[in-house]
Amino acid sequence: MKTRFRSKELPASSGFGDIYDVAIIGGGPAGSTAATLLARAGRSVIIFEREKFPRFHIGESLLPFSMKAFTRMDLHEKILRAGFMKKFGGEMFGSCSEQGNKFYFKDAYRSQTDHAYQVTRGDFDKLLLDHAAENGAEVHEETAVERVTLSDEDVDLCLAANGSSRNVRARYLIDASGRNSVLGTKFGIKKTYDHLQKLSIFAHYDGVSRAEGIDGTLTALIRGIDRWFWIIPLTPERTSIGVVLDSETFRKSKLSAEDFLEQALTEQPIIAKRMVNAHRASKVYVATDFSYRSAKLHGHRWLLAGDAAGFIDPIFSSGVFLAVFSGEECADALNEVLDHPRKARRLFARYERALNRAMDIYLRFVNAWYTKEFIEVFLAPRDVLGLPPAVNAVLGGNIGNTFAIKWRMWVFYFLVWLQRHYAICPRLTLVPKKEEPQVSPATIGAIS
Ligand SMILES: Cc1cc2nc3c(=O)[nH]c(=O)nc-3n(C[C@H](O)[C@H](O)[C@H](O)COP(=O)(O)OP(=O)(O)OC[C@H]3O[C@@H](n4cnc5c(N)ncnc54)[C@H](O)[C@@H]3O)c2cc1C
Repeated sequence: MKTRFRSKELPASSGFGDIYDVAIIGGGPAGSTAATLLARAGRSVIIFEREKFPRFHIGESLLPFSMKAFTRMDLHEKILRAGFMKKFGGEMFGSCSEQGNKFYFKDAYRSQTDHAYQVTRGDFDKLLLDHAAENGAEVHEETAVERVTLSDEDVDLCLAANGSSRNVRARYLIDASGRNSVLGTKFGIKKTYDHLQKLSIFAHYDGVSRAEGIDGTLTALIRGIDRWFWIIPLTPERTSIGVVLDSETFRKSKLSAEDFLEQALTEQPIIAKRMVNAHRASKVYVATDFSYRSAKLHGHRWLLAGDAAGFIDPIFSSGVFLAVFSGEECADALNEVLDHPRKARRLFARYERALNRAMDIYLRFVNAWYTKEFIEVFLAPRDVLGLPPAVNAVLGGNIGNTFAIKWRMWVFYFLVWLQRHYAICPRLTLVPKKEEPQVSPATIGAIS
């Protein structure tokens, strides 16, 4: 293990010489993954994070296909020691009925693991960033990258911390700055998806009832007619609950975020029943989740990773998976390019194709989700042609190019299309049945 270096001071001079192999903007899952793998490969890596960790972040439900990367980074023991909850699958409901459909990762097509994790992101991201430092990456928190200057030979970063500024040079740059997307903004290459201009309102609650055993670890998704909800168990006591809808719908309601969330949760029998003894344990957060993608994911000396490359609606919890996947792919590409700079163009282009392909898979899934027919087909599963295990595999992060999954997904999308024209599955209203409220808005809204 290398010397641990962790500081909020600006780097005076690098222990590796004047120029680092790789500089990384952002200490979230994408940046930390890339930093750990590059440092382990013996590269000089410096990572700048503008916040002090742990910091709050949304995005708490992980996918099983990240497990391989965690194994590669030797993270599982630390994750389990930190007490993060294992997650064994998910369940989906239409808000008009309490008849949902559960899926378990163990049943996915060629499943390699039966679980992922549910995490409080502040703690999880800190664990990942600490791990990068322990593996030899030089980590600077509370240090914002203010400006990036790219030249043929290197990358120059202008940093700000503690009211002072300094410049650092590196051969290559990974922009893993999340939705802030430093380079995407600089180059004006961030393209939003107009049909996915969503907004989320969410909070943490204590005392939400849940099933016994592994069913109590599942992420629940509830699809309403113009919104959807998540319920993510985080710890034995704490649960994350949120609603996602068009930002316009929220604006027109003229309600505060607190009142909107309270009302929205009370209206959903599936949620209200679970919240009879619940109370709010955090403030109510509002996040815009406008989906976007950068038109270019690499340049001569830079790569974009994680949300800085693109963000596809949170419905299928693909964000951290794509962040870790892209961090890993970036690290592997750069590790080779540092030895063989002439391979950069080819390897960076390959990286861009791989990440775009992964984002395309989720974009298609997300587009289908926002049709009513998706949930109608999903909630009427028939075990024909091995469709449920294939859909389950993609939900778990299997973005491999296997033909066996690909053709089954085509059939699944065809069924969703068919449902629009012929009712091959029962039609759903997606409107909650009127019932006496199970829980008073005051209970849901109260902060303990
Ligand atoms: C409502 C909502 C729900 C979600 N739910 C899920 C979920 O259940 N599961 C899931 O996997 N994903 C989910 N996501 C997505 C997930 O949060 C992100 O995809 C994930 O955090 C991306 O990781 P990242 O490392 O790319 O970026 P981040 O985790 O955002 O990290 C980027 C870091 O860069 C730092 N930074 C930014 N600018 C600078 C700068 N100039 N200088 C220095 N540092 C900088 C930031 O402080 C930040 O810490 C959700 C997202 C939303 C909006």
